[in-house]
Amino acid sequence: MIKLGFSFLFFFLGLVSGSFLNSLIYRLETNQGFIRGRSFCPNCRHTLAWRDLLPIWSFLLLRGRCRYCQKPISWQYPLVEAATGLTFLLLFNQVLPHPFTFPVPLIYLVYLLFVSSCLIVIFVFDLKHYLIPDEIVYAGIAASLAYRLFEASGNWESLFNPLAVAFLTSLFFWLIYHFSHGQGLGFGDVKLGFLMGLLLAFPQVLAALFFAFFSGAIIGIGLLALKKKKLKSELPFAPFLVSGTFFALFFGERIVNYYLSLLV
Ligand SMILES: [Zn+2]
Repeated sequence: MIKLGFSFLFFFLGLVSGSFLNSLIYRLETNQGFIRGRSFCPNCRHTLAWRDLLPIWSFLLLRGRCRYCQKPISWQYPLVEAATGLTFLLLFNQVLPHPFTFPVPLIYLVYLLFVSSCLIVIFVFDLKHYLIPDEIVYAGIAASLAYRLFEASGNWESLFNPLAVAFLTSLFFWLIYHFSHGQGLGFGDVKLGFLMGLLLAFPQVLAALFFAFFSGAIIGIGLLALKKKKLKSELPFAPFLVSGTFFALFFGERIVNYYLSLLV
């Protein structure tokens, strides 16, 4: 019962955070500061009231249109809210001890919620603009370094795995970036690789890379077949890397254990 209540709470927290991430993305797109004021419609600039800002609910109630100018609201808004809600719910259940006892490893949970929010922003921004915002990937790296230092707390050898994996993943991406002359990957992906390494470490990072390259290839071939993309035109790669990272976070351990059980 308590667990169910907390699950709802985290889902709700995720919805609200998703709404904040949407406004963060908008501010990054328009180069506005983060502190300044109220939300408004990007089309008619009418200030939005609280009843226009309820995650998902307002979108459904307004049938996807601005209350004031009737211009359709982007699907990005409800989708990011729903995705963040679901991510927070899953992360809470992932970190939860079995059986459920207090305290949950709170710092680990807060770290995962933060870094996942960065990943969601990177996913959307790269998909829309073929660009990974530096501020966001650096914030994720800084939080990951801080968490790894906290986790090690004196036992410095434990830092070796995530740090080495961060450098190696980043180097791997840099080699693709360098030899494909920026056609295969962007330099933003090289930085994202560092973040993935710090967050996932070995061997979970392998599950993430496998998922990213495999799904990237399938979707790339699919788009080619549908003639939506030419062979030369680039596909944003961060959405695949982010999907792979979430895949590894939620299923990585199970998959790695499964493979190890095959070896023994
Ligand atoms: Zn409007």
